[in-house]
Amino acid sequence: MKIIMLGAPGAGKGTQAKLIAEKYGLPHVSTGDIFRANIKNGTELGKEAKKYMDAGALVPDELTVKILLDRVAQKDCEGGYVLDGFPRTIPQAQVLEDALAKLGESIDYAINVEVPDEAIVNRMSGRRACVSCGATYHIVNIPPKKEGICDVCGSELILRDDDKPETVRKRLEVYHEQTQPLVDFYQNKGVLREVDGTKTMEEIFDSIAKILG
Ligand code: AMP
Repeated sequence: MKIIMLGAPGAGKGTQAKLIAEKYGLPHVSTGDIFRANIKNGTELGKEAKKYMDAGALVPDELTVKILLDRVAQKDCEGGYVLDGFPRTIPQAQVLEDALAKLGESIDYAINVEVPDEAIVNRMSGRRACVSCGATYHIVNIPPKKEGICDVCGSELILRDDDKPETVRKRLEVYHEQTQPLVDFYQNKGVLREVDGTKTMEEIFDSIAKILG
């Protein structure tokens, strides 16, 4: 099963993507995580991506498409995957469609997690991410057991540069301009499913599980 998660930054699609990956035994493929791992390891790709990420902009399609296609060509993706944060532009979606069509495959579901902008800005300022393993928390909704410390690896939790309010507003603008058109794109392909992202994490996941069966 090949699933795409759609939704504004901070809509909770990453959390849902992880839950889906766990329940259905699929790899969770996040382009944001791949970029952050490259930044942490000081690679050329990481240095290039960081310039855009810190500004709340999208990393150019040429760079992004290549890392995504390499990732989904790996063996663990043979039985499908959950894409989180890709595609984010129509050209990215088109490249993915074309690559899959060559293999006689296609996306099964594009799940749009809907949340109004105001709710997103409030949420994102409460987000915390582990400096070391990338695990994410929320000071109100998903707090770590010990304040400021990662449950998974014990490292420090921080507010990511791209979760700061001024960057969030920029990211929402970019989302409406470049990513929202994907909702129509997948609707036209008949694979779009919508869920209410203002509900609790469990309720949202229940709706998704009903869709996926
Ligand atoms: P995320 O963790 O998915 O919110 O991604 C964090 C940042 O990484 C985004 O704000 C973009 O700068 C960059 N990024 C992640 N995925 C993509 C993508 N598919 N296309 C372009 N930029 C991306």
